[in-house]
Amino acid sequence: MTSKKNDEDYGFETRMIHAGSQPEPITGARQTPIFQSTAYAFHDSDHAASLFNLQTFGFIYTRLNNPTVAVLEERIANLEDGRGTTCTASGHAAQQLALFTLMEPGDSFISSSRLYGGSITQFGKTFKKFNWNCDFVDIDDPTAIRKAIKPTTKAIFVESLANPGGSVCDLETVAAIAEEAEVPLIVDNTMATPYLCRPFEWGASLITHSTTKFLSGNGTSMGGAVVDSGKFDWARNDKFGALTAPEAAYHGLIFYETFGDMAFTMHAHAVGLRDLGATLAPMNAFQTLLGIETLSLRMERHCANALAVAEYLETHEGVEWVSYAGLPSSQYRALADKYMPKGAGSVFSFGLKGGYEAGLKLVESVNLFSHLANLGDTRSLILHPASTTHRQLTEEQRENAGAGNNVIRLSIGLETVADLIADLEAGLQAASKA
Ligand SMILES: *Cc1c(COP(=O)(O)O)cnc(C)c1O
Repeated sequence: MTSKKNDEDYGFETRMIHAGSQPEPITGARQTPIFQSTAYAFHDSDHAASLFNLQTFGFIYTRLNNPTVAVLEERIANLEDGRGTTCTASGHAAQQLALFTLMEPGDSFISSSRLYGGSITQFGKTFKKFNWNCDFVDIDDPTAIRKAIKPTTKAIFVESLANPGGSVCDLETVAAIAEEAEVPLIVDNTMATPYLCRPFEWGASLITHSTTKFLSGNGTSMGGAVVDSGKFDWARNDKFGALTAPEAAYHGLIFYETFGDMAFTMHAHAVGLRDLGATLAPMNAFQTLLGIETLSLRMERHCANALAVAEYLETHEGVEWVSYAGLPSSQYRALADKYMPKGAGSVFSFGLKGGYEAGLKLVESVNLFSHLANLGDTRSLILHPASTTHRQLTEEQRENAGAGNNVIRLSIGLETVADLIADLEAGLQAASKA
């Protein structure tokens, strides 16, 4: 942004549209161009050498960085009030990259058991191949979190607003426990977005996003992001050698000494993206930038529609319970008022009186709601987690994740809310006959 004022002086909506972008200097193009280029010409061999030594900021090869992706990185960092952002090919790649910088083989991290189903599988199964161990805990139980801390613990991971259960994490309490353990709190802020929830204000050190969801907002583009607050002191203990020990590939450079509060973000690009290769495509960065321009407007409507649908479901005779943190009946209402006062998002779950079969019948009977595994789309989406996203989990894991047999997850879109309610009414009537 070019202005007399600092970026931080602008309101959220202004930063959503302007942060990180300027008219393109050569052509004047006002919208951020899609720099669909793999590599960038060096000015001369000294310039090339200083780029490769990380002495000059600039572009080398799109696996490491790209001008379109860099605008998105700056915009997300700005909206989260973070120091730096590293964009990735997907939300899962962001989670891997965040942990890759912190973990060594044999290390462990603590995670909430209430997570996106794919994250439970990634953490509990696939990361074992790197000899990274995940200790799942009930994140509402501070004693359980403290008990899980071990000398090998390198991070605590939570979702601010958890998928699919509609539960809200007590971020301030968990951040205090992470602080006692001298490890960063990582918050997956996908479901809340920076418009509804501000994890860094409550003590988080890193934020991850699946930009695939509300940030891109229209179901076109996979993407992820890791945002660093820049406030964690990586040298306070000897746990984070990737940032505090000499890096052989860069002539013994010590990232934290050299880059200070940009150490994490520099490492995530110069080592993480370089070697893991999960780079965001420029076209997807462009789509995500377009989405972010309307984030606040969309989130307001998402929240209003979700509340109306949740209120309707709560009084329905075929519905056993509704887990939406925006409802007065929710056990998470007080936490939602504290951490997401503008609204409790638009993804929530409810329980059908009829169980597994009724769940299948409902998702097959609705019309406007699309039956698919995504969320944060302009379209309303419906899912029966037990038969889809949480299918690979054991019955016990499903229950712990808030994805039992009778559970239906909704992601409420931006349609006319009366149409959504009418569609659900027809579906629930069909389900009651299952
Ligand atoms: C979708 C999702 C992810 C994974 O993101 P992808 O972009 O699908 O890899 C992680 N966390 C949450 C909360 C999600 O909804």
